[in-house]
Amino acid sequence: MLFRDFLCYNTAVERNYSRLLEETLDAARLSLLHLVAEEATQRGLPLYIVGGSVRDLVLGRRLNDFDLIVEGEAIGLARALASKHGGKVTAHSKFGTAKWSLPQHLTPQLLTPDTSTPDTSTPDTLDLISARSETYKHPAALPTVKMGGIADDLRRRDFTINALAIRLDGSHFGDLRDDLNGMDDLQKGIVRVLHPRSFIDDPTRMYRLVRYEGRHGFKIAEDTLALIPEARSLVEKLSAQRIRHELDLILDESNAVSMLRRLDELGLLAPIHPALADFNRSELANLQANDPSLQNRNSRWVLWLMHLTDHEIELLNERLHFTAGLLKVLRSAALLNANLAAVFGLKPSQVVELLEGYSIKALEVVSSAMQDKKIKDVLIKYLSEWWLVQPKTTGHDLKKRGIPPGPKYTEILRRLRAAWLNGEVKTEEEEKALLDNLLK
Ligand code: ATP
Ligand code: MG
Repeated sequence: MLFRDFLCYNTAVERNYSRLLEETLDAARLSLLHLVAEEATQRGLPLYIVGGSVRDLVLGRRLNDFDLIVEGEAIGLARALASKHGGKVTAHSKFGTAKWSLPQHLTPQLLTPDTSTPDTSTPDTLDLISARSETYKHPAALPTVKMGGIADDLRRRDFTINALAIRLDGSHFGDLRDDLNGMDDLQKGIVRVLHPRSFIDDPTRMYRLVRYEGRHGFKIAEDTLALIPEARSLVEKLSAQRIRHELDLILDESNAVSMLRRLDELGLLAPIHPALADFNRSELANLQANDPSLQNRNSRWVLWLMHLTDHEIELLNERLHFTAGLLKVLRSAALLNANLAAVFGLKPSQVVELLEGYSIKALEVVSSAMQDKKIKDVLIKYLSEWWLVQPKTTGHDLKKRGIPPGPKYTEILRRLRAAWLNGEVKTEEEEKALLDNLLK
């Protein structure tokens, strides 16, 4: 039985999800939740699992982290847990949040049930957050946070499917809290904002919207879709960090390409920066979803942007603040892409001279996505063989032969390397003979 079917049945009959928790979570995670719930119960604090964790539980998806909300002092609860069970607490009293770094004896038992091998995605920390309300002083501002109850905490969220909570303390274990009708939307597969100002308060939600739609194959509610036009122009108010974070998350998704195409259709790429308009021009748009070059986030960034000019990449960097490493690869890939046609008809040594200045990562990504078979073959040859070819002779050898150190060394060694690359010499003896000739 699919979880969705299970829920259709379950919600009609009762609103208790203890069975879902017990049957879906592995023993280690479940006992961790019970441990926290027990402490919360003793302190009289209502405790909930909320947000993406509930959504993923219901959809039967693997849970990575828990979002735990406490009505009351989350920091006090975390400290009590740490003093009883060990581990460390990092607290942010201004926000009422605490991170409990789990003690060793609570983490190693987090094994995947089927293989008994450590599950690398299991958390070694647990976030405990005090329920809060959030308000926005102006469009696209960061929220102003005030302590509140679970009702406030659910109302501050992005979508109804992310605004579900299951209570964990005491006899309430498993009680569903669904103030915003999220379970109905989850069952029907609909992504819907909580109120009409949602995208104005926080335009990053438009990018999250497309991510959930694409990831779960859901539909966006009509009235939610209708809110996009008036919030579009607010995208430019978002900081580099906030908008890039959303794009990073999209690029991490397995169907990132269709999500970006969808953002483009909704007119949500151009407001980030004009260089991003017209997604279909990019290499990324033309790849099959299972293309091996789509390996990770940074490769995807390169495939997306390599058709731009170096100058456009620079402007885009002013908007998005790429990490230094990614920026270097992006610029290299854009330059490479602009100059690639020149590799046609060159000798191997000339290809090496042309390609040597480019980043290997850029070359790898560009070659893996290259449609032109002839250029692709040249790039593969360069990456698999040519760039590693070096003559046997070293500077040390030249010194031994009495040549005074200077630019001549580079010239001679380059000449010897070219001879190997072009097949003019094939053995060490032939290299020696050529060197003798050059020194004459
Ligand atoms: P994912 O699987 O992508 O991590 P998630 O739902 O866990 O999904 P997070 O970004 O980890 O998403 O955020 C946790 C929860 O916080 C969300 O489920 C949502 O309720 C809330 N949230 C996150 N970002 C926003 C936002 N911009 N506006 C309102 N609520 C948000
Ligand atoms: Mg999450």
